[in-house]
Amino acid sequence: METFAVRRRDWTKRRRALVGAVFALLVVAALIGAVGAEQADEVDLGNIAGIIHELSLPAYAGRLTGTDGNWAAVGYVADRFERLGLANPDGLEGYLQPYVQPTRLMHSPPELEILDASGSVARQFKFITQFSPTTAPGCRISGEVTAPGVILEHVDDIDRVRGEAVLLVPMHLAANPTEIEAIMKRVTSSSCRDQARLLGVILEVDTSGRGYFPIVPFVAPGSFPTDRNDGGRQSTAEPVSNEPMVFTCDRPTFAELAACSAAGPDSPSGTIRMSMDYSVEPARTANVVGVLPGDPVAPGGARHIIVGAHLDHVGSNMDGTYNPGAMDNASGVAAMIEIARALSAGPVRPPLTVVFVAFNGEEQFMYGSRHYVSEPCLPLSEATMVNIDTVGSPRGVLLQIENAAGRDTQMARDLCGVAAQLGIGFRKSVSSGTDHSSFANAGVEAVNLIQPDFAGGYHGPGDAADGVDPGRVAEVVRLVLAFIRTAKTAPPD
Ligand SMILES: [Zn+2]
Repeated sequence: METFAVRRRDWTKRRRALVGAVFALLVVAALIGAVGAEQADEVDLGNIAGIIHELSLPAYAGRLTGTDGNWAAVGYVADRFERLGLANPDGLEGYLQPYVQPTRLMHSPPELEILDASGSVARQFKFITQFSPTTAPGCRISGEVTAPGVILEHVDDIDRVRGEAVLLVPMHLAANPTEIEAIMKRVTSSSCRDQARLLGVILEVDTSGRGYFPIVPFVAPGSFPTDRNDGGRQSTAEPVSNEPMVFTCDRPTFAELAACSAAGPDSPSGTIRMSMDYSVEPARTANVVGVLPGDPVAPGGARHIIVGAHLDHVGSNMDGTYNPGAMDNASGVAAMIEIARALSAGPVRPPLTVVFVAFNGEEQFMYGSRHYVSEPCLPLSEATMVNIDTVGSPRGVLLQIENAAGRDTQMARDLCGVAAQLGIGFRKSVSSGTDHSSFANAGVEAVNLIQPDFAGGYHGPGDAADGVDPGRVAEVVRLVLAFIRTAKTAPPD
């Protein structure tokens, strides 16, 4: 019994030792597995989510170029570059590449009201959800008008309008660019102005399925005077020209405006009040540029790739709301910084130098990228460029790998190849609406990466951080990391 008992104890000991050894092996294997998984997936989702959250905060107020919120975003990105140890390009201070561009500022929210016979407000409509001003060249961008509404059924109705009026343009005309062009030509022509003062135009727009008007602060070069002597603002008392004020409104709003107006131009009744308070001003602003030097002995050492993303957005609505611009384009900035972090943290330097650029002024007309192209930090003859604008679709919208219009680059083909290898779904496409096109126009191979999901609230208060999926941003980070690490070294043809 004793012997048996001893043997049994021995066996139990041995079994315990065996179990312990197997357990230890399993732990080691699990640890190796974990390390392996970490190496295979080095992307830090927390970093991506944190950057998107940060840049979408009220402190940045929608990052409109020329505002304090935009400067705060510039400072944030420069600080991140510094912490990653990126090199400051020669000639720049603190990673900032300053330049001046026109920007459109809103000083108070626009107003659209129906006034009763005594001139008091009978109905007030809501900016963004019910109406939005148009700030295109050829229309006033500041001031106030009050006039009876006149419904247009046909372009020729304009000739029958007498006295002051706000023209109400129903959708059958407003949705037709040819009709709109004809209407605006008549409204601003002097012959028409002899008999009538057409102070405003309100276009009926179908917003169903979207429910709001996106904010578009586009300022084409030379389209607005910016060298004002009145402190940068047009006078709000009198129109500076006979340009009309132009609003768009949704269908229910249009119906209410029409109900208080005459059915034809002969007997207008009811009064409409429109006001807007914008100015277009020269703004001193900056791109943020940081450099990660490549391996100088790698075959691609002399060449560099620019990884770009615009940091600006469309700003505040001056009514307590702002447009966070989480998907457009805090997501792209987060991807860019995460790419910089992963490459800096890696044990080997990338085979080619990487220049990270957070562009400003994209929303006005790609001013920042056009400035960078005119004053590049490294010669563009040695460059390729990948831009990231609007990624992190939580609705599974496919990644698009986009050439600029009229280009078919080897770079796009290579990116498609890498995406396929990584098992990332994609579609090859063409667009010229963002910063890669500034580089393409300068003869640089340039590609834009986008997951074009605008259902979360494009250029509106709805584009918030919780509507962006960091996992989908990570997909783009992995693609660009793999692309850089396997970069072809031959110069573009
Ligand atoms: Zn945008």
